[in-house]
Amino acid sequence: MLDVSGLNVFYGQAQALWDVSLSVAGGEVVSIVGVNGAGKSTLVNTIAGLLRPASGRISMSGVDVARVPGHRICEHGIAVVPEGRRILPQMTVRDNLDLGAYRPGARRASQQRIEWVHSLFPILWDRRNQMAGTMSGGEQQMLAIGRALMSDPQLLLLDEPSLGLAPVIVDTIFDVITQIKDRVSVCLVEQNILRALKISSRGYVIVEGRVVLGGTSEELLANEDVRRACLGL
Ligand code: ATP
Repeated sequence: MLDVSGLNVFYGQAQALWDVSLSVAGGEVVSIVGVNGAGKSTLVNTIAGLLRPASGRISMSGVDVARVPGHRICEHGIAVVPEGRRILPQMTVRDNLDLGAYRPGARRASQQRIEWVHSLFPILWDRRNQMAGTMSGGEQQMLAIGRALMSDPQLLLLDEPSLGLAPVIVDTIFDVITQIKDRVSVCLVEQNILRALKISSRGYVIVEGRVVLGGTSEELLANEDVRRACLGL
């Protein structure tokens, strides 16, 4: 499904990603883990079409999307939940969800999809008429994920969904990720390495803009370097 190969990304003269390659197949949750500043958001923003790679390939279901702009990436089956969520605070929860289904193909089946999203996050039904900006951070994260699912993606790209949230809320969000994976593949970018790997089949470790390790989550969790560098064990 998603195949990234040899990706090099710069901010001006400064290189942020070096020869990054990774893949996500159908039905998988794949984690991309690394500490603060490793290059995770740069990778998400490049796949999302917000940054142009200097070189390398990003292929989604066989189509090269490396030069597709951010506002058109959802047409290729990729939905992105950026760090900081970017929900529309002055609109209701329901209107935010409806906005996620704006592309024509997604609109057709939006009634079934909104019922699915409400079944995953019942709080979004309870709060449907509330202004999104008045909800808690965890509820806003659920809304951001729900809105992304409304575009009927094949791949959900999540940038640090656990950031700043209470462990009980993270549990809810990570439970939903495991529930949806048969319908939508998930690429989970996280600093919360232990928890991310626990719900993933595979993972990649990014250090200073390079993928230094990749493997099954069990392999990564057992790796001494990962345990030392990332888990503080
Ligand atoms: P965080 O968890 O803090 O978001 P991250 O792993 O997502 O970290 P990035 O934000 O991708 O890391 O940053 C990777 C590198 O690129 C860092 O050295 C950072 O300083 C640099 N960087 C990020 N954004 C920019 C920018 N807009 N201009 C210049 N350098 C940037």
